[in-house]
Amino acid sequence: MSAQVENVVIVGTGCAGLTAAIYTGRANLSPLVIEGSLPGGQLTTTSEVENFPGFPEGVDGFMLMQNLRKQAEKFGTRYESGTVVGLDTSSWPHTLKLTDREIKAKVVIVATGASPRMTGIPGEKELYGGKGVTTCATCDGAFYRNMDVAVIGGGDSAAEEALFLTRFAKKVYLVHRRDTLRASKIMADRATSHPKIQCVWDSVPVAVEGVAEGAVSGLKIKHVKTGAESVLPVKGIFVAIGHVPNTAPFRGAVDTDEQGYFVPVAGSQVRTKTPGVYVAGDCADHVFRQAITAAGMGCQAAIEAERWLAEHGG
Ligand code: NAP
Repeated sequence: MSAQVENVVIVGTGCAGLTAAIYTGRANLSPLVIEGSLPGGQLTTTSEVENFPGFPEGVDGFMLMQNLRKQAEKFGTRYESGTVVGLDTSSWPHTLKLTDREIKAKVVIVATGASPRMTGIPGEKELYGGKGVTTCATCDGAFYRNMDVAVIGGGDSAAEEALFLTRFAKKVYLVHRRDTLRASKIMADRATSHPKIQCVWDSVPVAVEGVAEGAVSGLKIKHVKTGAESVLPVKGIFVAIGHVPNTAPFRGAVDTDEQGYFVPVAGSQVRTKTPGVYVAGDCADHVFRQAITAAGMGCQAAIEAERWLAEHGG
């Protein structure tokens, strides 16, 4: 067990966590970042990022995260690998519980992100990230100009992704397991009436085709009522069946909503009702979910944390 009390411990190494590290590092707080099982977060699973400001030619997602990591390190950020399983805020400094140790921290910034829910069908994992299966139309839609693509899901995300993809794709199949969309009426109406979107009702995905070739060549689906199988000839598959915020280890210590997202106090995007605990990025945002908005929240969390520490013995 570490006897040392850290000023700031940041849990997560996506855009939110590393931006918080850059800011708290530059504030001379010597932050400690806990790196989990997917260092660099969701951006490392996407090939090219074209919408992060400042990169007119686009930037490789992995490179961007490496650069953020280096930038944070330059200002005194330290990194440790570990899996956080709990946070005890019953006394201060707070205690982060990891699988193999505990860390005391005056401030904890939780930036653990959200994991896209996946279907788990064969081929999905193999062709995820740059090979045709993706979870983000905003990130990857432009790579599918004049191609046929499929969106899986029936909620607002699926409708939104499908509508966004009509800007690029020749045709968008919207594959849903029931015969009505769960999406809000306005989004559902827009999606179902769009000339480029073809709704494929009562159908579940069965397999992603193209594993041998290393690129998606189709989506095999099954009609739930007839059992008939068919293949949609698509080059891109956008899985939009919801996200799971990575907040479980912090429940109890930090408020979450019914979907599991952290709930900040009114008037702040990042301050929680637990003094000295801040949240940033997709674990606290089910609306925007962009790299740049996560980075913005990381910045806010760092600045609020720095001010709080200055007042409370930092
Ligand atoms: P969601 O509302 O939970 O919808 C998930 C969809 O995926 C549902 O249609 C569900 O089918 C389907 N699904 C779930 N598991 C599946 C599986 N294993 N195989 C096939 N289909 C599966 O998630 P979301 O669309 O990401 O939205 C999450 C929240 O964010 C919602 O509150 C939403 O309103 C909000 N949001 C709002 C906007 C907006 O206002 N512009 C945009 C995005 C998200 P069933 O319908 O049969 O359950």
